[in-house]
Amino acid sequence: MSLRSFKQYIELLQLSGLSYLVTDFNKINIKVEKNKAEIEDDNYELSDHIVCSPNTDVITDEKFDELGLYKLKDKIQDCQKCGLAKSRLKLVYGEGPQTAKIMIISEGPGAEENITGRPFVGEAGKLLTNMLAAINLQRSEVYIANIVKCRPPKNRTPQQNEIDACMPYLQQQIRIIQPQVILLLGKTAIISMLKNTHPIDTVRDAQPFIYQNIPVWVTYHPAALLRDKSLKRKAWADLQKFRDFLIEKGIKEAL
Ligand code: SF4
Repeated sequence: MSLRSFKQYIELLQLSGLSYLVTDFNKINIKVEKNKAEIEDDNYELSDHIVCSPNTDVITDEKFDELGLYKLKDKIQDCQKCGLAKSRLKLVYGEGPQTAKIMIISEGPGAEENITGRPFVGEAGKLLTNMLAAINLQRSEVYIANIVKCRPPKNRTPQQNEIDACMPYLQQQIRIIQPQVILLLGKTAIISMLKNTHPIDTVRDAQPFIYQNIPVWVTYHPAALLRDKSLKRKAWADLQKFRDFLIEKGIKEAL
């Protein structure tokens, strides 16, 4: 089925009163490339391109682009795609300019983020702001997002089914922002984005990586640095390399 036919089918379902779609058929033989769809025999994640959940309209690729980040944020405020919705106070979608050249991706919201709906507002947030300032970056010039948008209870690590449910939102954020570089903070972000399960120390030595043609750098989560001060020296080494890369690629001017 072509993407156009598929869209028409979905629109027909919408006209018939459909408000959400259960995508149990999570693999479908469609490949999207530059807005053209071809039937392929490889596996394609439908959930990457269509968000389906109660209280959320069906959103196709084209609609995502039209909506932009902020309308999309409104669209998913009541997302119920995974169990983290139950204990959510506020969904933490992300923060920063849609035109940001640099995207920072971390694990998920903590207690203060759950209350405010903003990423990195607690102690770890202050440290992140200082880490950025140390390499001549303002928070206002980067886009900050998380792997999961709702707080896991007691700040536990998000489960794989929760990550899988939420990743399409992050993937759409990346597609809309089109950052020139991504910085991953912490193990969950590294595993989820790079599928690299090695210890961070090993991963750091092999960076940068590439995610969908975007260079990716990694370092420790600021909360880990607050727990273990001995990691700060390594994080500073990562940030210096990251800063040098930004300057080398013209993403950021030297001081
Ligand atoms: S974590 Fe993501 S997928 Fe789960 S309810 Fe929140 S927004 Fe939806």
